[in-house]
Amino acid sequence: MDDTLNDQPDPTVHGALKWAAAQLQHLPNPDLESELMLEFVAGEERLWLVTNLDHILDKSQADRYITIVNERAGGQPLSYITGQKEFYGRSFKTTPEALIPRPESEVLINQIKTIVQRKANPKILDVGTGSGCLAVTLACELPAAQLKATDISPEALKVARANAEQHKVADRILFLEQNLLLDETDHYDVIVTNLPYVEDHWLAASPQAKELAAEPRLALSGGETGLELIEEFLRQFALKRSAPVVLLEHGDEQEQILVPFAKKLLPEAHIRSVQDQFGVNRVISISINE
Ligand code: GLN
Repeated sequence: MDDTLNDQPDPTVHGALKWAAAQLQHLPNPDLESELMLEFVAGEERLWLVTNLDHILDKSQADRYITIVNERAGGQPLSYITGQKEFYGRSFKTTPEALIPRPESEVLINQIKTIVQRKANPKILDVGTGSGCLAVTLACELPAAQLKATDISPEALKVARANAEQHKVADRILFLEQNLLLDETDHYDVIVTNLPYVEDHWLAASPQAKELAAEPRLALSGGETGLELIEEFLRQFALKRSAPVVLLEHGDEQEQILVPFAKKLLPEAHIRSVQDQFGVNRVISISINE
């Protein structure tokens, strides 16, 4: 890896950014990421950066910058370097113990807000909460809601709890280690779930394979078909019917298998596809009569 920044007697902001962008050429947004990482190292905002291009970085900042840019060039996700990711306008703590929140999951929040708008005290279950971004955002957006957030990973639950505390909603979310709906006995107004749905072969073949490898496999892998966990969840839901509505995130084109699969299990259900902000079918909404 090129360490030329180290050899410069006085690395300026401008020089550091130029060096970093060259290291990150193989990534989609080298300039933006170079800036974000320098802001992170300097503890400054973008305005500072663009108005201080001639500022000379002190040695410890320059060294730290070189380290993290090299990590990023090697495939470490930016959110694990900065330790945070924005979701629905709020900052979430991210660690390698939980999936990094994705913008396409925000569609789940908008859908649920519409579904529960007439409920005085909506009860919501988030299955496979990971970083907690869905449960915590829902608790923030719906101040009268009561939530349960489950995950099979105790490490992920710790991250989720920290995020609930950071956003001051920990008193309205019950965090529980649980496998899908296995031990579920409660009833909810809506269940939301973003289970792992990536096909195993894609984890290695994807252009983002290195970054995906840095995230917990448990949070991404849906087995060979990508659908193993979602299908098991639907089978359990068909037996328990723990809510009148389920909103379920899925991968590209998986609705073509999931809609008929769910119809077979729940013949009377009303099922519709919902698109994310990129115009891709991303969620199925399943409503049942109880
Ligand atoms: N949307 C994520 C991705 O494609 C996957 C999230 C998931 O498996 N639930 O990287």
